[in-house]
Amino acid sequence: MKAMVLRSPGALLDGAPLALEERPDPEPGAGELLLDVAVCGVCHTELDEIEGRTPPPRLPVVLGHQVVGRVAARGPGADAVEVGTRVGVAWIRSACGTCEQCRTGRENLCARFVATGRDADGGYAERMTAPEDFVHPVPDALGDVVAAPLLCAGAIGYRSLRLTGLRDGQRLGLTGFGASGHLVLALAHRLLPRSEVYVFARSADDRAFALERGASWAGDSDDAAPAPLDAIVDTTPAWKPVLGALANLAPGGRLVINAIRKEDGDRALLASLDYARHLWLEKEVKSVANVTRRDVREMLALAADLEVEPEVREYALEDANEALLDLKRGVGRGAKVLRVA
Ligand SMILES: [Zn+2]
Ligand SMILES: [Zn+2]
Repeated sequence: MKAMVLRSPGALLDGAPLALEERPDPEPGAGELLLDVAVCGVCHTELDEIEGRTPPPRLPVVLGHQVVGRVAARGPGADAVEVGTRVGVAWIRSACGTCEQCRTGRENLCARFVATGRDADGGYAERMTAPEDFVHPVPDALGDVVAAPLLCAGAIGYRSLRLTGLRDGQRLGLTGFGASGHLVLALAHRLLPRSEVYVFARSADDRAFALERGASWAGDSDDAAPAPLDAIVDTTPAWKPVLGALANLAPGGRLVINAIRKEDGDRALLASLDYARHLWLEKEVKSVANVTRRDVREMLALAADLEVEPEVREYALEDANEALLDLKRGVGRGAKVLRVA
């Protein structure tokens, strides 16, 4: 099979980190499925893996955790999903199932959380394996390319929106307007129809895109919003938007940071954190970590029911490096998806 393989981490801008290789098909182990990959979404977490902020524990590795494919074969003991079924695979490849977190619906926080496309090979390839308990049937209403970004950008965006605790009619802010941000806006319009959405983005094109998608207002990442915001979801890799967001929160407001890692480029700005301006009056900061299977399945169902559709730019599997560079540079609107088959 063809695969785009990461052999050594490094700065993305220094070259092409992934190499096209011919590899033997993976063998499904006990309880696992072999999948023919159709498409795989490109996520900012792949940049964090390549650049060493959340490094894969072993190399080489095949990245990619927003996979839509069809079941091609089943390993020993895997009998719950029929061959030919169209399924999605998300960031959660497995969790232990027995710890306190797993038993209380928080498998995303499991100490033995295994991530697709980091701790095990993912979907930047023609075939991959996944445990049958951790694949998700894709509703017929969703095409392959539409479904892929829902598996991470959508699912974690949905989790982030839930974690805001926002009630309908309260004001929502979004810092960053990429794959996840534009899906959170669409979800917010459906789930919180009376809530206005305010978008902070560095790029003028992203701000225009946000207004086209129904944002009430769009400004730069450190602009003052025209009204205090009850909750803000941050999907950027930087710190400046965090300070901007805290300054824009209403009393008792909550900032939910949806980023597996922050980059260090502008971390020095945190020295300007001002308690009275940024934190006083019971403002809260919460991170969002990984996803649960429930997040993924509810997101797929919501998208099918409510017609939440991502804006998608397609690339060939062989052009994965170009897709990652475009993501790094902020080129193109919405989500990026690799067409594998
Ligand atoms: Zn992701
Ligand atoms: Zn666990």
